[in-house]
Amino acid sequence: MTVRIGVGYDSHRFAPGGPLVLGGIRIPGDVHLAGHSDGDAIAHAVTDAILGAAAAGDIGEMFSDQDPAHRGRDSLEMLRAAVGRLHGMGLAPRQVDVTVVAEQPRLAQHREAMRAALAVALGLPPSAVSVKGKTNEGMGWVGRGEGLACLAVATVEGAAEPIAAEHVATAQAATARVGATDRRP
Ligand SMILES: [Zn+2]
Repeated sequence: MTVRIGVGYDSHRFAPGGPLVLGGIRIPGDVHLAGHSDGDAIAHAVTDAILGAAAAGDIGEMFSDQDPAHRGRDSLEMLRAAVGRLHGMGLAPRQVDVTVVAEQPRLAQHREAMRAALAVALGLPPSAVSVKGKTNEGMGWVGRGEGLACLAVATVEGAAEPIAAEHVATAQAATARVGATDRRP
């Protein structure tokens, strides 16, 4: 069994008109997060964190923002699809930790609902999902209330993967190419 760690980051700009979708829940108010999908920066950062842990690509490659099929898409559904990609590789998320950097909304009253929603999408108990909120102390674009940022770290567990002979050969060939470039005058 191996444990792998991935990190994800996302940010979205606030736009007029609520509700704001964050961590899979709808927060009433007068702003939402602008984006091609529903703008759920927590779900996007978590999706990138688990894909990163699996070295299985990223959310932009899985769900192109050029594809009209993804317009207004439910980001928890995208997260579930990424979990499915991991399952196909013999991997599964084990734990997620999220930090949201925003002046507004304050997350405390929504934290438990977010943990529950994310946990269902990840196939985990809520005790394996952490959501924390920070302000940016009024500094920069977050401080001016232009948008919010989100960081996620995920651990993923699965059967230990043997290093295939062809991967070693590919790595050696790439290393040899780099060496050849370096020797060029
Ligand atoms: Zn996003």
